[in-house]
Amino acid sequence: LIQLSIPLNFLGMIYREIKQALIDIEQMFTVLAQHPEIEDRPGAPALAVADGAVRFEDVRFGYVPGREILRGVSFEVPAGRTVAIVGPSGAGKSTISRLLYRFYEPSSGRITIDGQDIAAVSQASLRAAIGMVPQDTVLFNDTIAYNIRYGRWDATKDQVEAAARLAQIDRIIASLPQGYETPVGERGLKLSGGEKQRVAIARTILKAPPILILDEATSALDSFTEREIQDALERISRGRTTLVIAHRLSTVVNADEILVLDKGRVVERGSHPALIARQGIYAALWSRQRQAEAARETLKQSEAAL
Ligand code: ATP
Repeated sequence: LIQLSIPLNFLGMIYREIKQALIDIEQMFTVLAQHPEIEDRPGAPALAVADGAVRFEDVRFGYVPGREILRGVSFEVPAGRTVAIVGPSGAGKSTISRLLYRFYEPSSGRITIDGQDIAAVSQASLRAAIGMVPQDTVLFNDTIAYNIRYGRWDATKDQVEAAARLAQIDRIIASLPQGYETPVGERGLKLSGGEKQRVAIARTILKAPPILILDEATSALDSFTEREIQDALERISRGRTTLVIAHRLSTVVNADEILVLDKGRVVERGSHPALIARQGIYAALWSRQRQAEAARETLKQSEAAL
């Protein structure tokens, strides 16, 4: 029996390895299918970043023919400023961030950084200039340190730890069995959505890019975690050109400009107080969210009283 169980165990191990490898390959193809390779034009020069001003000029785009998602979007994020995009689900908010990172190209109109069309420069130089904190961060099957260092391999241990502190993930890392050397990802320790996002923030802090895209998580985080992540994001966006895709209005109050996107068009724009005074779509979204928050609070209090 022992003689038989050893090879069987071994086979089981191989089976699990192969299965995981297949899952990895499958995930890779999913990513590739979502982002079909956009080719650099022959001899495309590198993007020359001066101060990182971003402009969308009458951008139109659809993922599939016959279904336009962005219908002529124009806006500017002046160097070092923050612009937030809000609007109902499906309005095209995240699509704007994918176009800026050039996962896709506009069907017409153009996107420029410091006056250079991003379609004309090399992708490597474009992506080196942009830090992206996506909604769902996929971690690599490696240690936490590796995941933070990704994008800036020459970072020292001290720099990695300083970034983790700024991203407010250092205490969580300290509580892990092997600290910074703890394996994470699909095969390692599973981190929560908020923890993964903070790993992405730490990575972005290390990369220190002139332009930031923050795509807020749609999934509800508890209010303590949300506050911590918010603080970390505010800290890294200071002095950098920042585009925030906001799913919660509480995070946009301090933006220099807010764009309200609806069905692929910018329907309102302005600062928070200006948009509230206007009593349009933004003001309605705002009061609805405030009511929802108040209702949640009342529910929590009545639960606590029971
Ligand atoms: P949410 O607030 O729910 O995240 P959003 O405003 O960010 O929404 P987008 O993710 O930009 O919306 O999506 C806009 C539209 O584009 C949606 O109708 C969506 O179904 C469609 N879409 C998004 N990604 C793809 C894709 N890869 N292929 C085809 N259609 C897509």
